[in-house]
Order: sequence, then C-alpha cells, then structure tokens
Amino acid sequence: MDFPCWWCLLTPPSVCGLRQSDSERAGLREGMTGEAMTDEKEAPCVAVYGTDGGGPFVLVSDHAGRAVPSYLGDLGVSAEDRARHIGWDIGIDGVGRALAQKLQAVLIEQVYSRLVIDCNRAPGHPTSIVKISDGTPVPANHALTAEQIAYREDTILHPYHARITQELDARLKAGRPTVVVALHSFTPEMGGLKRPWQVGLLHNHDNRLAVLLMELLRKEGLTVGDNEPYALTDTSDYTVPTHGEKRQLPHVEIEIRQDLIDHPAGQEEWAARLARLLPQAWALFCQTYGVTPGAQADAEGAMA
Ligand SMILES: [Zn+2]
Repeated sequence: MDFPCWWCLLTPPSVCGLRQSDSERAGLREGMTGEAMTDEKEAPCVAVYGTDGGGPFVLVSDHAGRAVPSYLGDLGVSAEDRARHIGWDIGIDGVGRALAQKLQAVLIEQVYSRLVIDCNRAPGHPTSIVKISDGTPVPANHALTAEQIAYREDTILHPYHARITQELDARLKAGRPTVVVALHSFTPEMGGLKRPWQVGLLHNHDNRLAVLLMELLRKEGLTVGDNEPYALTDTSDYTVPTHGEKRQLPHVEIEIRQDLIDHPAGQEEWAARLARLLPQAWALFCQTYGVTPGAQADAEGAMA
C-alpha cells in the first residue's frame, strides 16, 4: 500500500525520499538532522525543529539546507563553492533552530541546497533551477528534461511547501492566530558592493508586521533594510506569497547579513534578539489592527 510521507502527508515516501525509522523521525522532530546521504537512505526533504508552545509564530527556512540528493552527485560544483552563499543561506540554520527553541515555535526547514531547486521560487521560474549562480556554473542543472525538473519539484519543492501548508491548515482549523516568519540570510558583498544593512525586512502586499518589526530593530541601533537587499515581489519569491499573502496571514520575511551569523555566538545573539522582538511586534500588531490574541487576524484591510 502506498501510504503518505510522514512529513508532507501527501507524497508517498518513495517520491519524497523519506526512508527513515520512527526513532529517526522523532529525532528530527527533536532537533537532529538526517545525515545519511546514500542511495539507501536519502535525507528527508523537510526537517522540522522546535515544539509548538501555543504561540502565533510558524518559522520557515527555504535555504537553510545544503544537502544534495545522492543521484546528483556533487552537481559538478566544488565543495568550496557549494558551501558559499550560492548553496545555502549561511548561518540561518543556527539562528532558526535557536529561535524555534526560544519562541517555542515550529521551524520547517528545507534540507536540500538551493542549487538543486530553489524553494523560494515558483515551479518553472527562470531561477528555480539555476544554471549559473554568482559566477559559478552548475553543470548538473544544464539540459534538464521536463521529467527531470518535475522529479526535483515532486521530491523537494512540493513536499516542503505541503508540509508548511499542513502546519498552517492545522492551526487555522483550530482557530489559532498564525504568523508566518520566513528566515533568510544574505551575503555581505554582491557585485563588488558592500551591503550596509545588518538585517533587512522584505514585504510586498501586506507590510504591516514588517513595518512594526523594522521600527523595533531600528530602536536597537541597527541599520535595517526596508525591502533591502531584496524586495519581495510576486515573482521573485514563492514562500511568503503562497503561505502569507494568498492566505492573508500576517507575515514577515527576515534577511540577516551572513557575517553576523556565520558563527554560533552570532546565531545565538540574533535568535535572542528576534525571540524578544517578534512577540513585541506581534503585540503591537494586535493593538494597532484590533486583532485579539487567540483569534485569527481579520483579513479585512490585510492587503495594503
Ligand atoms: Zn534565502
């Protein structure tokens, strides 16, 4: 019988790549990653950290992982290049996991490298599966057939987003306030230009929570990018448009500069900062927009 994947609850494990024992699954839930990357035991496509302590936040991290499915080898990219910012969002794994613990929130992480498929891009987007990234060619991404692209989508992209959808659906069914927090990090320098922001908040159709959190971060003396170093758009992003905007859930996309979080002390510092400020921003949101904690935000007026 073709039972569904334990993580995404939609895709059969044979498609999702999940081949784990119950104890390993439990271990992942408690904060351990699947490390084996062999044909017999691919890493699961999604890792879930933290425990749901009843708060409003759901953390998602599209680029936290840098695994490559064994059938793709090394993608034709050196280990050094795969460890650069092109392969993953450096440091955001440590920030996200510590933040999940401090907030008592669930964190849903993509395990595979964005060089395999970018989970913050819609299927078919020109940069969904990049042929070259920041000057580094990705040979395994050239001349892909439609079937090969669909396989990556079905085994990595779709199960990840289905797992997020599952988490949100369960919360909304229970009538719980739900805030989507997308976690990313950015390289300190791009195209020869140094980026001055320590943190950037990205928003598009609904800027309410981003603006409140931005004010709190600026009060800490930080240089905060407002839709910098990237602007959130309908096409350049997929996670917030899909799970935040379309569902009219309060949300914010946070980008932290990688040199601040490429070491454990920095990760802990930023996790502690966000664990302190996110609840403050949410409290201000509830006051400002008349949301009663414990009830879902009124969708009216959500789309600015
Ligand atoms: Zn990212």
